[in-house]
Amino acid sequence: MRAYVFSEWTKKAEIKEVSIPTPGRGEVLIKIGGAGACHSDLHIMHEWTPETFPPAGGMKLPFTLGHENAGWIEAGDIPPGMEKGSAVVVSPTWSCGNCASCRAGATNYCEQDGVLTGGLGRDGGFADYMIAPAHTLVPISKIEPWQAAPLTDAGLTSYHAVKRCLPKLTPDTAVVVIGVGGLGHFAIEFLRELSAAKIIAIDRDENALKVAKDRGAGICLKSDETVPERVHEATSGLGAMVVMDFVGIDSTMLMATQIVRRRGEIIVVGMGGGVLPFQNGLIPYGCSLTYTLGGSTSELFEVVALAESGRIKPHIERFPLEDIDEVYERLHNNEISGRAVLVP
Ligand code: NAD
Ligand code: ZN
Repeated sequence: MRAYVFSEWTKKAEIKEVSIPTPGRGEVLIKIGGAGACHSDLHIMHEWTPETFPPAGGMKLPFTLGHENAGWIEAGDIPPGMEKGSAVVVSPTWSCGNCASCRAGATNYCEQDGVLTGGLGRDGGFADYMIAPAHTLVPISKIEPWQAAPLTDAGLTSYHAVKRCLPKLTPDTAVVVIGVGGLGHFAIEFLRELSAAKIIAIDRDENALKVAKDRGAGICLKSDETVPERVHEATSGLGAMVVMDFVGIDSTMLMATQIVRRRGEIIVVGMGGGVLPFQNGLIPYGCSLTYTLGGSTSELFEVVALAESGRIKPHIERFPLEDIDEVYERLHNNEISGRAVLVP
């Protein structure tokens, strides 16, 4: 079968011919129907090394990229209620199941070191087939695997971030989304459906701002030095109760501190490598700053329910697997709207 194998830090992956893997105990072989192209793969291929980004040190090379996966069950330890041919999405949290976080259902914050995920240290879904633990599968029935694949990361990660700040988003508040790409455009979908807060979108790209407007952002701002003033104008001088940064570079994190209000929350999801120096007065009083990772498998059931009910309609474009280099080139050049999905 074909697989997009990542073999060396700071070198792009390549499509290679490899053998179809055999599932072990508790594992299932999935015939891939679609795998989403995440910006994290650009960080992995071109920016990170175990020295510059220590968490990457846990990943043993080579492995097949692709951590946003959906398809059909082919063989293996098939979970009860599913059968060969059942359509599923693969949760990206391949957690240990035994630590306190896992037992609390927070599988994305598994405390066991060395539990790697398909596409992030273990073989992922830019291939004809992949292996996944049976406990990570969530059934889908009303949408196709290629449409569902982005729910597992772009959808799930932004949903988790939105859900944890929902209690703060009363109807008299505003929420800012910085970076309206794969993750950010999902965040706007969830905010529109789940909260009554005013949604403000910020991006450096006009097309992304158009996507934001179509998805329900009330105010769309080009990312520049006028942003703090314009956010304060739009919020009676108070600032936004929640700022979600889906870029995570120095300038966006600093911008977040300038537009968040007292008792507010900054959630940094983007892994752009930004550094935010901290001192008294840098963020408003009572404000907290969080860094989130993915979402739990139980939250993935909620995201699938929202997508299958038709209440969220993410912008997804599909491409054949053989176009993968071109898709990442376009993602790097900001020429992908919403999410691109590779279909073998
Ligand atoms: P993407 O390329 O699809 O979208 C990024 C968007 O940010 C684009 O619209 C781009 O125009 C915009 N942008 C870039 N620089 C900007 C700036 N200075 N100001 C405003 N907007 C700017 O990327 P994606 O796949 O949505 O991923 C976004 C980030 O989230 C990446 O860093 C990725 O690694 C990270 N990520 C984190 C997690 C997690 O669990 N924390 C999970 C998945 C992805
Ligand atoms: Zn990702």
